[in-house]
Formats: sequence, C-alpha cells, structure tokens
Amino acid sequence: MAAIRCAQLGFKTALIERYPVLGGTCLNVGCIPSKALLDSSEHYHNAHEKFKTHGIDLKDLKVNMPQMIKRKSEVVLENTKGIEFLMKKNKIDVLHGHASFVTKNRIKIAAANNVTDEIETERVIIATGSKPIAPANFNYDKKRVITSTEALNIEKVPGSMVIIGGGVIGLELGSVYARLGTEVHVVEYMDRILPTMDSDCSREMMKSLKNLGIQFHLRHAVTEVTPSKTKAKVVAKSRDDESKTLSWDVDYCLIAIGRRPYTDNLGLENVGITPDEKGRIPVNGHLETSVPGIYAIGDVIQGAMLAHKAEEEGVFVAEVMAGQKPHINYNLIPGVVYTWPEVASVGYTEEQLKEAGTPYKVGKFPFRALGRARASMDLDGMAKILAHKDTDEILGVHIVGARAADLIAEGVALMEFRASAEDAARMSHAHPTYAEAFKEAALAATGNRAIHS
Ligand code: NAD
Repeated sequence: MAAIRCAQLGFKTALIERYPVLGGTCLNVGCIPSKALLDSSEHYHNAHEKFKTHGIDLKDLKVNMPQMIKRKSEVVLENTKGIEFLMKKNKIDVLHGHASFVTKNRIKIAAANNVTDEIETERVIIATGSKPIAPANFNYDKKRVITSTEALNIEKVPGSMVIIGGGVIGLELGSVYARLGTEVHVVEYMDRILPTMDSDCSREMMKSLKNLGIQFHLRHAVTEVTPSKTKAKVVAKSRDDESKTLSWDVDYCLIAIGRRPYTDNLGLENVGITPDEKGRIPVNGHLETSVPGIYAIGDVIQGAMLAHKAEEEGVFVAEVMAGQKPHINYNLIPGVVYTWPEVASVGYTEEQLKEAGTPYKVGKFPFRALGRARASMDLDGMAKILAHKDTDEILGVHIVGARAADLIAEGVALMEFRASAEDAARMSHAHPTYAEAFKEAALAATGNRAIHS
C-alpha cells in the first residue's frame, strides 16, 4: 500500500522483501490463508450440522485435509501474484533480500544466495511487521508446539489441540479445528476471552464457541509445554489457586499469545533508533522516527496489529512525504474476529466509557429476533450501540453475528460523520437483512424503541 501510494504520488520507489514472495504475513501466513480455512471448515460444519434441517441429505461426508490446504495455498498464490502485478503496474522496483541500515540513506540488501547489494535512498518506510511471541519455556518446535504459521499447514485433522491464548488467533484457528472435529481446549490468562473487546462480545462469543465444542479454561496460565515426537504435554495453573493444575497430552499445542514487532537485524542501531520496551519503533504524529526521513508503519509501531491499520498508515506516510495533510482516526479502525458468528467492533467499548466517566446509553438487539437470521439458521449474536447520553452521538458499535465483519462498515461510516443513534434509527435498512439488527439496536439506544423485541 505504502509503495503503491508512493509511486502514485511520483516518488521513485523500491520495495525490499526478504522472502521470495510478496504480501507479508497477511497474505502468506495470516489474514488470507486463515480466512480460506475458516470458510472451508465452516462449509464442512454446516454440511455436517445444518444441511439435514435444510432438507439436504448427504452421504459419506468427510474432510479431505490435503485438498483443503491445497485450496488455501492456491488462494494465497492468487493474492501474491496480484501484488506482483500491482508492483509492475506501478513501476515499483522489487528487490529480494534482507534489508538493513548502513546509514540513514544507505540500505544493505543481503539476498539468499549470499549476494549483497546496497542502495541509496532519500527516505525509508519501515514496514517489517511482527512475528508470533513464543516464550522459550513453551518449547516451540514447529512440529507439535506450533504458532499460527504452522497451524495453517496441518495435513491431517488433529485429534486434540490446546491453544494458549483466547485472543483473535486462538479463537479463529480454534474454530477451524473444532469445526473439523478436533477436541479444542483454549487456555486464557484473563477473566474472559477477547479481553480487549466489549465484554458483551466476549460473553456472546464464548456461548457460541462452547456450542461448537471448544472448552475454555479462563484465569489459567500455561506453565509447561513439552513436545515429543507425536504429542505435546501441556500443563496450566489456575490463577486463583496455584495448587490446582490442568494437564493435557494433545496432538498439537498452538501458541497464540500475541505478536512482537519484527526488527531483527534491521541495523536500527546504525541510525540511532532505539525500540521501546515492547520492541516497537517510536514514531511521532507523522509516523516519522527520531531520524528525519525514516518512517515506520503497521505492526512495528504502536497501535492495533491489524492489516487495515497498516494500510491506512502506509497511505498516510506517502501523503505526508508528498506534502499533503492526511489524517487517520485511530478510534475508528474496526476490529474483527472471523469466527462464526463473526465479531466486529468500532469505537469505544462500554468498559472504556465507564472508565472515562462518559455518560452513555446502550441499545442492544439479538440476531435471533431477525427474520433473516431465522431463515439462515444463524441465530447467535447481538448488535450493540453505545451513544452519548446527552448528545445521542454514536460512541461505539459492537456486533456478534452473521456477517458482522461486513456490517461494521455502517458503524464506521456513521461514526466518521459523527451521526447520532437516532440518525441510524431513521435510516431505511433493507428487509430482511442482518443489517436490521443495527437499526433495531439504534432504535433501542434512541429511546427503547426497538420494533421487533
Ligand atoms: P491477542 O493479543 O489477540 O490475544 C492473545 C491472548 O492471549 C490474550 O487474550 C491474552 O490475555 C492471552 N495470553 C497472553 N499470554 C498468555 C499466557 N501465558 N497464558 C494464557 N493466555 C495468555 O493475540 P493473538 O491472538 O496472538 O493475535 C496477535 C495479533 O494479530 C493481535 O494483535 C491480533 O489483533 C492480530 N490478528 C488479527 C486478526 C484479525 O484482525 N482478525 C487475526 C489474527 C491476528
């Protein structure tokens, strides 16, 4: 994104990538492949659990895991080819190799075949992303103790899996394998899954995922992970009573406890940039580092580790460099979990409003009251709108439900234009759609006027 916007704005642009394929984590081992597996596993789950009720009888339904993984890889390939095409179209020089700073204007590129090159540049954008956190005592062996990267390439449905972390990755990949028939245990350190999202989302999500068969162990910390050739032994301690432990002997242990900014061997010390205590590169309001002309964006700086946040920042930096005055409203970057039902959120959570002492009203509407949800058998979830008590301005939208990931765009648009809950309530929403949950929640927030509750 940054490279394309730079090229559009007339900069002579080079993109340096250490891997042979472009697209980074999102396209290769993140957003895209995980969504491909989420879609495939959801089809299987529906065929297994719901088709009979729909009046569709199937015989010999089974999972062909190698084919599922192959299709996922083809989806990735199509996307990475698309990026290559865009680089050519925008006349961006793509250089493969590990980049590091020699000076602020000189970059060394070490290619895989030991050939080293150097280029001169006026400006640099660091967009090196992040890597999964894998503490040494979890014995990450990439075979039985894995991260999201390896979890995208398992060629046989596992019998059992412990997932450390009930965050986005844990729930998305936990859903994939639970749908395919794996016994899944999620160990979460905090009181609830998705601890940074609105607590109603955590509650609704946990209900749905328990119905899928996922077993949750909240307020537990994993203390030991020991892989063997065919299994992983996992031990967790209760936070409330350390003498209480849980242990499993499972096919896989998936570590999903967050990601760390990736700046390894980038030569930051050669230009005088010092990462903060979390390994992030400090930047100012223009996303420029302490060194003029060196900018940083995405997972490697502060803020949510989201592909669409990084995209906004890439465009922002290119425009700043071109002398424009772009703006990013960080409060309106939506967060999505691609489970089923999906979770999507924008703006403030109820917990944040309480903490800030902001007076607010709440409107909630359950998906099961929607005609559309009944027709599709997607009854789980709710839409929740938080509005300012006095001005009625929408302050937060939190949705758990079918297509929540797409529905949240309405919340973002309305909040970008600082709409009130009543504005949303008076907008016509097509019937029957899931989007009606949004309108009904807005009606409920405006004055307890939801029609179908
Ligand atoms: P996360 O921060 O979303 O969740 C990690 C979870 O692990 C938290 O709930 C945390 O309380 C828990 N945890 C941490 N240490 C623990 C321990 N020792 N024992 C038990 N629980 C522990 O991190 P993630 O799921 O690994 O995802 C990494 C990043 O990638 C996040 O920033 C996420 O937003 C991003 N991501 C986004 C998407 C998406 O947008 N759909 C998908 C995948 C990843």
